[in-house]
Amino acid sequence: MASIQLNRVGKIYPGGVHAVQSVDLSIEHGEFVVLVGPSGCGKSTLLRMIAGLETVSSGTLSIDGVVMNDVPPQDRDIAMVFQNYALYPHMDVRTNMAFGLLRRRRFPSRLKACFSSAYAASRRIERSDIDARVMAAANTLGIESLLARKPAALSGGQRQRVAVGRAIVRQPKVFLFDEPLSNLDAKLRVEMRAELRMLHRRLGATMVYVTHDQEEAMSLGDRVVVLQDGWTQQIATPREIYETPANQFVAGFVGTPTMNLFQGTLACESGRMVFTSSHLRLEGSVPSWQPIVPSLPRSCCLGVRPEHVQLVASGGTPATIEAVEHYGDRMDVVIRSCGHRIVARTGPDATLRDGGAVAVQFDLARAHLFESTKPFARLIG
Ligand code: ADP
Repeated sequence: MASIQLNRVGKIYPGGVHAVQSVDLSIEHGEFVVLVGPSGCGKSTLLRMIAGLETVSSGTLSIDGVVMNDVPPQDRDIAMVFQNYALYPHMDVRTNMAFGLLRRRRFPSRLKACFSSAYAASRRIERSDIDARVMAAANTLGIESLLARKPAALSGGQRQRVAVGRAIVRQPKVFLFDEPLSNLDAKLRVEMRAELRMLHRRLGATMVYVTHDQEEAMSLGDRVVVLQDGWTQQIATPREIYETPANQFVAGFVGTPTMNLFQGTLACESGRMVFTSSHLRLEGSVPSWQPIVPSLPRSCCLGVRPEHVQLVASGGTPATIEAVEHYGDRMDVVIRSCGHRIVARTGPDATLRDGGAVAVQFDLARAHLFESTKPFARLIG
């Protein structure tokens, strides 16, 4: 186990691409941290810098308090699991899993001139120990029966388990995962997520995981780091990120379907909050918004999660149903009201049909308010 500290870490690739901008992040022993964001936001670059596969352009990166900026990958005691598994096709599963340790066994004799004999000895591992570690990892992952097979004879999920097993046998200080489930089908991905969570609990290891899939991030991470254009947008638990997104970007990125966002003006009229966005007018008493009353009226962005939009027979703003998506236990209903496209999440309701007329109400007490100009920060809470 190990802690990781990133202090104003940045990365500029040759050609001037600022892939990562001044990231501050402190990962504790045994924590499972997920880096998430859209394609190109810099999450893989950040992970590869932790692994030592990319140089750090600015700032310091430490593991257990020791600065790692110039330490080569093989001396960081880190194991990385890649999206493409990177298994050797000509080796069976047992050898694939043992490969890193077998190579380490040969290391002292090849390079011993460069290192002290004590250091070399500390890296030497007995063959019987390697076999025991492979068996233990295979047991943990339920792949004991596959040890004699070559990768070509494995399914995607089995290959993924072997790739994880290869990382486990190394007993590294830190596990790094770069989109490891992306090549699996949707059902298997969900199963493997649960397995990774269990594995994390069992090993108690420090894990850093990269994904572009916000659902995967929310389901796996003790904490989630949301990135955009190389900048950290929020670092928090999945629950905090969902309930109190730090800005408009996080609000719109996390959650399926995404949060409804309306640009408009918030005012306070006779003690009641009034939000208007083109022809949409929402009114209510929201005690938690009191702190911003002195700054009203002001432009802002109002965010309402689909589960906080209610469709009612009457008494709300008139709306037309554009599409109904059935998921068995729930429905997502796309409506149009006052020129806005709005998504509502409801329980199963056979009366809601494409093209039908409904009325819509918003639970303002659970709505979010953001600045409507950069940095689009949260206004309350
Ligand atoms: P993500 O993993 O979030 O998709 P990356 O970390 O791979 O994003 O890339 C971040 C940015 O850095 C992107 O704009 C990408 O094009 C750029 N980039 C990545 N690798 C290189 C490279 N080797 N050389 C130049 N630019 C790169």
